[in-house]
Amino acid sequence: MTEVTLSPPREICTAEQGYVHSVETGGTLDGPGIRFVLFLNGCPLRCQYCHNPDTWLLRSGTLKKTTEILEEVKSYASFLKRAKGGLTISGGEPLMQPHFAEALFRGAKAMGLHTALDTSGALHERSPDSLFEAVDLVLLDLKAGDDETHRKVTRKPIQPTLDFAERLRKFDKPIWARFVLVPGLNDSEEQLRKVAKIISGWNRVERVEILPFHQMASYKYEELKVTYPLKGAAEATPRDVTLAWHIFSEEGVYNTRNAPKI
Ligand code: SF4
Repeated sequence: MTEVTLSPPREICTAEQGYVHSVETGGTLDGPGIRFVLFLNGCPLRCQYCHNPDTWLLRSGTLKKTTEILEEVKSYASFLKRAKGGLTISGGEPLMQPHFAEALFRGAKAMGLHTALDTSGALHERSPDSLFEAVDLVLLDLKAGDDETHRKVTRKPIQPTLDFAERLRKFDKPIWARFVLVPGLNDSEEQLRKVAKIISGWNRVERVEILPFHQMASYKYEELKVTYPLKGAAEATPRDVTLAWHIFSEEGVYNTRNAPKI
């Protein structure tokens, strides 16, 4: 598979319009409360375990106007506020279209909604500070504990994600750290300790999630006629997740759904 460009053409990377994959109006996993989750197209990574390969290419999404999306968000705004939720922008990688994402976040903030950005941080350098100022929560995905394994998992270096976490300090935004556990890929004790050590050094981590790898997205690869690197690979079991939490907790990182904040 060829490398993807990190810079989409300027004329489509605007505050007025962007490429959208889909919308989920009752999300409960991607931030607090009930969420309007907007999945944008375009991603520079190629995670072996990706569950959304149909979001990889920017132009395979639907070109939509910011005003059109904000009208839709507005129709749910009072419900989202009552449900202590808000707008989450996910993907793909939302920072592939930073001006579009910022305009959407600003529109949601004007409605009084909580905002969450679901990102790997890989493209943060292309995003202005003003984008992150409009974000209330960052769902930050860490794919591995060192550069070698990160490149194996995603085909890209780990450093931009580490730099992004450092950059977030100045905004003092809360982070929910997320890690997808894949047997045989990033689940060795050494990897898990490295991942936990990185997360324990981040600022304002309010929640940590270990998400078990599953095979539910394999049909998407077949439909797209894209090679699935993890075809037939073992899924992570509840026991694998428990063992991973055990190692995390030895490094001072706890399951914050059930334990005090770290
Ligand atoms: S960052 Fe997310 S959307 Fe992009 S390849 Fe990885 S899992 Fe898929």
